[in-house]
Amino acid sequence: QRIAVLKERASGETRVSATPETVRKLTALGASVAVESGAGNAASISDEDYRAAGAEMGPADVVVSGAHIVLGVQGPDPALLGTTVPGAWVVGILDPFGQRERVHAYASAGLEALAMEFMPRITRAQSMDVLSSQSNLAGYKAVIAAADLYGRAFPMMMTAAGTISAAKCFVMGVGVAGLQAIATARRLGAQVSATDVRSATREQILSLGAKPIFVENVEGIEGEGSGGYASEMSEEYQKAQAELVSAHIAKQDIVITTALIPGLAAPRLITDAQIATMKAGSVIFDLAAPQGGNVEGTVPDEVVERHGVKIIGFSNTPAHLAADASALYARNLFNFLSAFWDKDQGKPVLDEEIGDAVRLTQGGKIVSERLQRA
Ligand code: NAD
Repeated sequence: QRIAVLKERASGETRVSATPETVRKLTALGASVAVESGAGNAASISDEDYRAAGAEMGPADVVVSGAHIVLGVQGPDPALLGTTVPGAWVVGILDPFGQRERVHAYASAGLEALAMEFMPRITRAQSMDVLSSQSNLAGYKAVIAAADLYGRAFPMMMTAAGTISAAKCFVMGVGVAGLQAIATARRLGAQVSATDVRSATREQILSLGAKPIFVENVEGIEGEGSGGYASEMSEEYQKAQAELVSAHIAKQDIVITTALIPGLAAPRLITDAQIATMKAGSVIFDLAAPQGGNVEGTVPDEVVERHGVKIIGFSNTPAHLAADASALYARNLFNFLSAFWDKDQGKPVLDEEIGDAVRLTQGGKIVSERLQRA
């Protein structure tokens, strides 16, 4: 099997889909790995590092030529893939809902496109779960970026010149990113509170030493849809949540929002009127910025100031931690390929449960049920 690793072409994308470590491991499985020159530069990996790990280096057309599997972080341009073997795999975060045309192009080219973000959330796939590995780092970075913009310190400090009180940090949405945001803010010494629509998160918030802020006594409180993801909430619930959040938010210094509902625009959690009640100098980091934002007024990659409050969100938060995000992402891909590696055939063969979930195109057609339904 020839595995090709392309340099990312999307603007602001610093990650790379293989590291010298995973090149070695893929080679040990019996594959040969070809990496486009410069692919790792933005993640502090040189061509020399890849070469030392056993990779062939070259320009995109040479690397892709005869490849059975093409790895990417984001979906590669179909125009680059003309010389792969027929039915070659394209593996990456393919953004199937946002990049429908590209998915159609993969289908027309006879490629088998595998969207890693469609990985089912089952125990055995945890090590292949790119959403988790990247969200975890994003939750950390959100707090660090907010702390950097905040004109005060996070921890309480008792000094000869007087006492500085601890920052109050509120995390909205306690999935993978939110949990890491809570842990990071706690490590920096903030007083942390958090909320989610899924009541199961209450215990998780407490276990991290933060205070749960929850709507009580409203119907539909469970908030859990399929696969452990959030579902859309009733109007009554949304109203009660907005009131609770309004009262709480006015007292916060830092707010981190992470709320997402799969396949839908991000839910609006904070309005401009609510921002107006916050103290000047407070900071809001909106991790949902690329999905439309949880916060009114968020502009991806810009610091927006409203009523003295700074609002920030990145269009690609994991890309701000290029080396670690690449290391974890590359391991997710390796774990995926190696879990299905068939020694006799010398190539990966997917099973039904995971294959049907991640496969977008095959035999010239769109085969993903999830994509057809949407
Ligand atoms: P996500 O990125 O889809 O959403 C982030 C959080 O926002 C979620 O906790 C969600 O409940 C919350 N949210 C949505 N709407 C909200 C609203 N209006 N107000 C407040 N919060 C709102 O979530 P995620 O990080 O992907 O995690 C979802 C769940 O899946 C978690 O329970 C996580 O532990 C679980 N998970 C399981 C596996 C596995 O078993 N392989 C892997 C990863 C995550």
